[in-house]
Amino acid sequence: MNAAPVISFEFFPPKTADGMDKLRIARDQLAAFAPKFFSVTFGAGGSTRDRTFETVIDIQQAGYEGAPHLSCISADKAEIRALLAQYQSQGIKRLVALRGDIPSGEVSNGDFRYASELVEFIRTETGEWFQIEVAAYPEFHPESSSPSADIRHFKCKVDAGADAAITQYFYNADAYFRFVDQCDKLDISIPIIPGIMPIYNFTQLARFSSVCGAEIPRWLRLRLQDYGDDLASLRAFGMDVVEDLCEQLLAGGAPGLHFYTLNQAGTISTILEHLGARKK
Ligand code: FAD
Repeated sequence: MNAAPVISFEFFPPKTADGMDKLRIARDQLAAFAPKFFSVTFGAGGSTRDRTFETVIDIQQAGYEGAPHLSCISADKAEIRALLAQYQSQGIKRLVALRGDIPSGEVSNGDFRYASELVEFIRTETGEWFQIEVAAYPEFHPESSSPSADIRHFKCKVDAGADAAITQYFYNADAYFRFVDQCDKLDISIPIIPGIMPIYNFTQLARFSSVCGAEIPRWLRLRLQDYGDDLASLRAFGMDVVEDLCEQLLAGGAPGLHFYTLNQAGTISTILEHLGARKK
């Protein structure tokens, strides 16, 4: 592994008390790897606003750094300003700033079009209070008109004040390395942390991937499909694939790993154990 790769974990805000208990168990298990922060997603159009807030506060109260995601697509400036003040009053120092996706069938009528505008607004309103993370797409965002346009738009977020980026997940390390090379050429010097999606279930992964534009390479898709209902074998194989990917990324100089946990700790803990990442 690199000298000190930055590890972070992402949760979604649970809907029930039982879900919250499960998240706490996963969080405490993953804390063994001394993560920099635990982030919590924000539902499209602010649909999880209160639950995201409560989950982040719960993380902070347990003694860890919590980082809320914040999406701006249907929001107005007053709403975002109030949310930023709420986070500041709770001592939250890190945000993942996103555009978000408009739920199908709805029309956005907010004050922001792109995440770069949100980053700019956060900096104008709160100066350097927040460490701002943004999204990056080694396989390119599905709506982008071209790879070069997408990277230019990524640079706008950096120029607006982003401190670091977390990528969409991918299973092809070259996509990441090529993306980082291209960013270097454009003088983008913030850390770009690969987002890692463990493989738990083929149908779910295929659904996520078709929406977000993350490619499941043919060899991987066919192998996963071939396991059918044999989930145990699929997960063992998937763990092997993801572990290899993490190894390649760290060996190639990735500054850390951000895991999309889906609120589960088992597979990720095993991967990190194998990578020798336990800190406590
Ligand atoms: P942007 O950076 O604004 O880019 C969106 C599109 O607009 C891209 O195609 C870009 O090329 C284009 N674009 C940008 N600027 C311009 C411009 N000036 N002119 C023309 N085109 C432009 N979604 C949620 O709803 N909640 C979450 O909690 C959440 N967490 C995420 C965490 C990570 C690490 C990642 C990678 C994604 C997450 N998402 C989340 C998904 C994200 O909201 C979607 O991928 C969304 O479609 C794009 O968000 P963005 O912040 O990357 O947008």
